[in-house]
Amino acid sequence: MGCGTVLSLRYGPDGDRTEITKGKRMRWSWKIGSLAGIGIYVHATFFLLILFILFVNLHEGKSLETAAAGAIFVVAIFGCIVLHELGHALAARHYGIRTRDITLLPIGGLSRLERIPEVPSQELWVALAGPAVNAIIVAAIFAGSLLIGFRPQLRDFRWAGGSFLNNLMVVNFWLLAFNLIPAFPMDGGRVLRAILARRMEYARATLVAARVGQAIAFVFGLVGLFRDPFLVFIALFVWMGAEQEAATVQVHSSLGGMPVQQAMLTNFRTVQPDDPLSKVVEQVLDGWQQDFPVVFGDHVLGMLTRENLTRALAQGGTETPVRAAMNREFPTADSHEMLESALTTMRNSKSRSMPVVDDGALVGLLTLDHVGELLTIRSALRQAQHATRPAQRT
Ligand SMILES: [Zn+2]
Repeated sequence: MGCGTVLSLRYGPDGDRTEITKGKRMRWSWKIGSLAGIGIYVHATFFLLILFILFVNLHEGKSLETAAAGAIFVVAIFGCIVLHELGHALAARHYGIRTRDITLLPIGGLSRLERIPEVPSQELWVALAGPAVNAIIVAAIFAGSLLIGFRPQLRDFRWAGGSFLNNLMVVNFWLLAFNLIPAFPMDGGRVLRAILARRMEYARATLVAARVGQAIAFVFGLVGLFRDPFLVFIALFVWMGAEQEAATVQVHSSLGGMPVQQAMLTNFRTVQPDDPLSKVVEQVLDGWQQDFPVVFGDHVLGMLTRENLTRALAQGGTETPVRAAMNREFPTADSHEMLESALTTMRNSKSRSMPVVDDGALVGLLTLDHVGELLTIRSALRQAQHATRPAQRT
C-alpha cells in the first residue's frame, strides 16, 4: 500500500479499515476538510478510481451524463463510508480515544485510532457504532422515500441508472450486512471478540474469534467456488485478516497497546547546540541519561549519543560545541503513537533512544533501557496478580 509502517489493519474491508499505527499519515493523500475535529484525507488513487469509472462508461459508449452520474454515485458511497468511520471515531472519543485522521482509498476508509479500547464493552460499542451509521442511513432513505410516495426496493439495484437514492440505500444495506459478519477484519469480528473477552482473556478471545472468522471464510470460499468467484476473493481477504489479527495480539498483549507517552521519560536533560561538551560530560557524570536531545526552544535539532560524545571528546576536547558532535539525522516518536511501532522505528534505525514530540514540540525521551525496566515491572506485577488471585477467591 506504499504507506509507512502498518502495524495492524482493523475493521471491515468494504467500508473501512481502522489502522492502529505510527505517526505518519499515508503519502499521496490530501486533506479535503475536517469533521468533528478529525482530518479527512483523500488518497490520490481515489481520484484515479473516479477517472477510471468515467473512462469505462464513456468507452462503452454511454453518455457523458451517465458517466458523471456513475462517478457521483461513487463519491456518495465514499461519503457514507466517511460517516461510518465517523461513527467509530465518535464512539471512541466518548471513551477518550482520539482518532487522528481518516483517509479515503478506493478500498474504503482508513482510520487511525490512537489506541485500541482495552475494555471489552468499549470495544463493543466502538465496533458497533460504524454499522449503526449505515443502519441509520438505510432507515432514513427508506422513511424519506415513503414520505414522498416512493416505495424503495432492496432488490432493485443497478450500477448504471435506476434511482440514485434507492441504489444508495442498497449499498448501505450491504455495507451494514457485510460489516456485521462475525469475522476479522470486519466490525463483526471485533464485536465477537468483545463478547468473548467478557468470559476469557483478551488474547484467547482474539484467537477464538480469529478461528471463527477463518471457519466462515472457509464456507465463503467453498460456496464461492460453485457460485460466485467474487466470494472466493472475499474469503481470502477474511482469512488473511483473521490470521493477521491473531498474530498482532501476541505483541499487543505484552506491550498492552500502550502509547508512547506512557512509556517515555519525562524527567530528562536536554542540551543546546552552543553548549560545550564539558557541560554534557557533567550531566552524564551526574547520572542523567546517556543520549541527549539537542534543542532550540522546544524544537529538537539533533541527538547527541554517547558514541557522538566520546568520539568528539577524543578528537576535539571538552570545548567542542555540541552542534559539531550531534547527529542531525535521527528518528522521532509521536507521543500518541503506539509503543510497539516506536520500538520498531528504533530497532530499524539502530538507535537506543528517541526524542518524543507532540505537534513538533519535545515532550519526552524514549529509551530502550527505560522501556525494558517498564516491561520487567509490568510482568512482575502481573505475576503478583496471578499469585494473589486464588487467595482472593477463597
Ligand atoms: Zn467499521
